[in-house]
Amino acid sequence: MHESHLQCEELIRNLEAGIFRWSLDSNSQVLFANPAFNRMLGYSDQNISHVRLKDIFKDTEEFDRLMTKISSEGRVRNEWIKIKKGDGQVIECSLNAVLAKAKDSGNLVVDGVVEDITEHKKAREGLLQAKIAAEEANSAKSMFLANMSHEVRTPMNAVIGMLDLTLDMDLTQEQRDNLMTAKEAADNLLNLLNDILDISRVESGKIKLEAIEFNLWQVIDSITKGLSVLAHKKNIKLVSRVKPNVPRLVVGDSTRLRQIIINLVNNAIKFTHEGQVEIIVDAAFALDDEVILTFSISDTGIGIPKDKQATIFDVFTQADASITRRYGGTGLGLAICKKLVEMMDGHIRIESEEGTGSTFIFSIRLKAKPDTGMPMSSAHKENEFFQRPEVSSKGLRILNILLAEDNPLNQKIAVKLLEKRGWLVTTVENGQQAVDQVAQKKFDLVLMDVQMPVLDGLQATRMIREREKISKEHIPVVAMTARAMAEDEKKCLDAGMDAYISKPIDAQKFYGTIEGVVGLPKESA
Ligand code: ADP
Repeated sequence: MHESHLQCEELIRNLEAGIFRWSLDSNSQVLFANPAFNRMLGYSDQNISHVRLKDIFKDTEEFDRLMTKISSEGRVRNEWIKIKKGDGQVIECSLNAVLAKAKDSGNLVVDGVVEDITEHKKAREGLLQAKIAAEEANSAKSMFLANMSHEVRTPMNAVIGMLDLTLDMDLTQEQRDNLMTAKEAADNLLNLLNDILDISRVESGKIKLEAIEFNLWQVIDSITKGLSVLAHKKNIKLVSRVKPNVPRLVVGDSTRLRQIIINLVNNAIKFTHEGQVEIIVDAAFALDDEVILTFSISDTGIGIPKDKQATIFDVFTQADASITRRYGGTGLGLAICKKLVEMMDGHIRIESEEGTGSTFIFSIRLKAKPDTGMPMSSAHKENEFFQRPEVSSKGLRILNILLAEDNPLNQKIAVKLLEKRGWLVTTVENGQQAVDQVAQKKFDLVLMDVQMPVLDGLQATRMIREREKISKEHIPVVAMTARAMAEDEKKCLDAGMDAYISKPIDAQKFYGTIEGVVGLPKESA
């Protein structure tokens, strides 16, 4: 017993933490303090007995608060306090203390341990500052990338537009081949730019997912229809199967879900030379209205070697170096898909056999909405889109189009493309002029650049829509913008625009969107 008592004393004397006992009465006088406590506060062993606990707190309110807490709860844990040393210097300490009854006197006392954490806090604040600085730098990088994308896309619009127009002229085979190569390179450059932009935004946490109700069946349907053209060109069959238990209406971010599926199907088509690509959607119900959706995209393509499968989702990774030479690409698509799937509380994996094919499977968790009684006939049907969508005869209507675009080069390209179709074009250079023109004349459609001086395209559209509340008319407005982010598309639609064309203009998509919006039958490509 005596032995352990001595050991205890030795321990308390040697410890670097300040150990103390104070009386709980109004004097709050020191009853015991170990050498470390005295050192920490800069008092001698004798002087400390004259010090009141209250006096060493920098802030007496803090002292009162802690005493109340100790009295009522019996203890305080890891409280950060500011203590005034004997020489007036203030240090930051952590305090752990407990209410006890002194064995000798039977009085209530406070036993506690204090540790000087001034250096810890300085280091922590340094880290915090560094974190804030890093976050600011990262967001500046994202901003820079977004702006740069706009600046790069605008001249690219001219390059691709002019190539498209020239490719439509009478050319020798050699001239055509040269221009086709230039066009392919320009398209690739644009894809690369979009991917870099996307990954940087995902990585900097700039992408926020939406939670909006959408029709999942329609999404699958339109992706299959849209990509069947590409599959057909390669003589590959593209099939989609949505299991009957999959809810039609779900709540989530349809734009990002589309992006994931399109990316995987595009890859599947790209790396397949014969056979088919199949999209399967299945559902399992979780708690309440939650549904776990599993999408599998399988192909009969070149497959991915086992040793490459683990790294295939990393940024800038391709199965092997020859892939870039043969198929192009950047190795960013799957990294973006993985990040987006994870943001949707899901995971993605791959099953693949070299030479036989690959299946990419991802699951996400969404909220399902009860079906509002839409016809189920096609819902239970297997969707198979092999043929290119039917093409009808030339639309005969001459459209009267208002083009609002401030960049002379972009204006020239759009006018040329529109006039090629035999349509009439009126051009203006800013949103205000567009609003004025729409008020004065009747147009079938407005093509509206988004970034314009005086009044931008979004504000102009809002003004047009505001006036239409009185006139009860609706003029289709199609946005044309070099900003290619999904949020930008949403901003346009929210402002009341009917559709969105991203620049550089792809001639076929340009015509297709216009014809779709004004209800003309689609012309043959
Ligand atoms: P990219 O296709 O632009 O190179 P991705 O990240 O989309 O970038 O794909 C990375 C790599 O994964 C591809 O280069 C390819 O080697 C491999 N890959 C992806 N999808 C498939 C597929 N369906 N079949 C075979 N290989 C694939």
